[in-house]
Amino acid sequence: MIVVLFGPPGSGKGTQAQYLVKSGKYIHISTGELLREEINRATVLGKQVKDIMERGDFPSDEIIMKLIEKHLLESKSEQIILDGFPRTLNQVLEFEKIIDKNQLKIGLVIDFKIDFEMLVDRVSGRYSCKNCGTVYHDVYNKPQKTGICDICHGDSFERRVDDQPEVLKNRIQKYLCSTEAIKNYYADKGVVVSIDASNNREEVRESVNKTLAQFGFDI
Ligand code: ADP
Ligand code: AMP
Repeated sequence: MIVVLFGPPGSGKGTQAQYLVKSGKYIHISTGELLREEINRATVLGKQVKDIMERGDFPSDEIIMKLIEKHLLESKSEQIILDGFPRTLNQVLEFEKIIDKNQLKIGLVIDFKIDFEMLVDRVSGRYSCKNCGTVYHDVYNKPQKTGICDICHGDSFERRVDDQPEVLKNRIQKYLCSTEAIKNYYADKGVVVSIDASNNREEVRESVNKTLAQFGFDI
């Protein structure tokens, strides 16, 4: 069964996905993360999408669908978290075909509701471990030991190029363009639940867990 984490950039989707993955009961597929890996490895695909992503624009739906199908079919878990996908109505409709073909099901879409003013604060303080990708924040989510990753003990960190305020504006704009259409599509299927993502990480975590349990997910 699939759970989609749906919300604007910086709303905390990746952070909550990290918590869920720790239980060993979920696979996390973040299309943004997969694309950044392609860029870091300087693959053909990475070179194709680098400039587009740095501007905060979207690579084509064709690229995204190929990427998602490949990783979805490779994943062995019964419970899959999608983060950052689908992002256009066309992706939603194309994804329906993949779901049908592979007997998969979207059991829940968690809508991360947050005031957009908070996003700048969250995104401008975001950084992650270069080795394992764990996400931190300058103020709200520091590693226990300064400069050392809690998970892999690496000491090298990085910030995303597309987290600069000007690019963030474009990313939020892009999110707003397709939000309603996507939410309405899944709301008609009765699988959308909104949570307050402006709360602290633990409070959001409780809301996510409660919602997952209500929809029959194993947490
Ligand atoms: P998304 O995956 O939706 O883009 P992230 O999970 O990367 O968002 O979170 C964006 C930034 O905000 C990160 O630096 C993260 O540590 C921080 N963050 C995540 N959730 C919260 C929260 N509930 N309160 C404060 N900061 C948070
Ligand atoms: P994210 O890590 O989810 O914030 O995504 C970072 C960037 O990756 C986005 O600004 C887009 O350029 C690209 N991206 C990730 N997922 C998608 C998607 N489903 N459709 C189009 N572009 C995507």
